[in-house]
Amino acid sequence: MRILVTNDDGISAEGLGHLAAAAAELGDIVVVAPDREQSASGHSLTLDRPLRMREVREHWYEVDGTPTDCVHLAIRGLLREAPPDLVVSGINMGLNLGDDVTYSGTVSAAFEANLHDLPAVAFSQEMEAGYSLEAAAAWARDFLAALVGFGLTSETLVNVNFPAAPCRGMRLTRLGHQLYHHTVTEKFDPKGRQYFWIAGTPEWIHERGTDHAALAEGYVSVTPLHLDLTDYPGLESYAPLAAELNGDALAGAGDGERRGQ
Ligand code: MN
Repeated sequence: MRILVTNDDGISAEGLGHLAAAAAELGDIVVVAPDREQSASGHSLTLDRPLRMREVREHWYEVDGTPTDCVHLAIRGLLREAPPDLVVSGINMGLNLGDDVTYSGTVSAAFEANLHDLPAVAFSQEMEAGYSLEAAAAWARDFLAALVGFGLTSETLVNVNFPAAPCRGMRLTRLGHQLYHHTVTEKFDPKGRQYFWIAGTPEWIHERGTDHAALAEGYVSVTPLHLDLTDYPGLESYAPLAAELNGDALAGAGDGERRGQ
């Protein structure tokens, strides 16, 4: 098995080394990761400048771009002749839960793999007292081995979050929701110019079955995600609006036709 390893914390991040070592126990690895931290870069693809890829050691490459750039370049460029069977992203230094997944470079790298018909797993670690990347990596290795045996699919990505406390097992979860308060700090730089800094601690909305609830109770959270953001109930609820607009438009077009005759 060939495994592509990436992250959004950068090629030097501790979590990447642990995940690469875990993946190397399961197959041949290639690491392609950003040359610096790209957290919260979302699913950003760089189109306005050239990208450079540099081999920093055997099978390890850094890219001066986003996590999505890394996966895209790896699959469509570097590994074009021998594509990976699986893409893993992380271990991110910090959780990627609930509404935060769309900001996450870690999760977006896995989404990018799905877009290229490859299965992908994203791993993130809660950074509270007691966390262990060694324990998380060992869990990740066993989970990946079991997942491969179960059957990989490129239809969904698997978003895995590790609690800081020793984990009690895993739970299959759905995305939760959080509220961020007071996220914008306004200050003045030494030249007197105003600046803003976005940072906040989420307040979780406690709901059973969510990724956050699993973490809060000391479980590894495993959430299958897919890129289809369609609101299926919305197709029904907006139907009257579409009918109204189409009715008017058709009536208008009909009038026009009549007037033109
Ligand atoms: Mn990160």
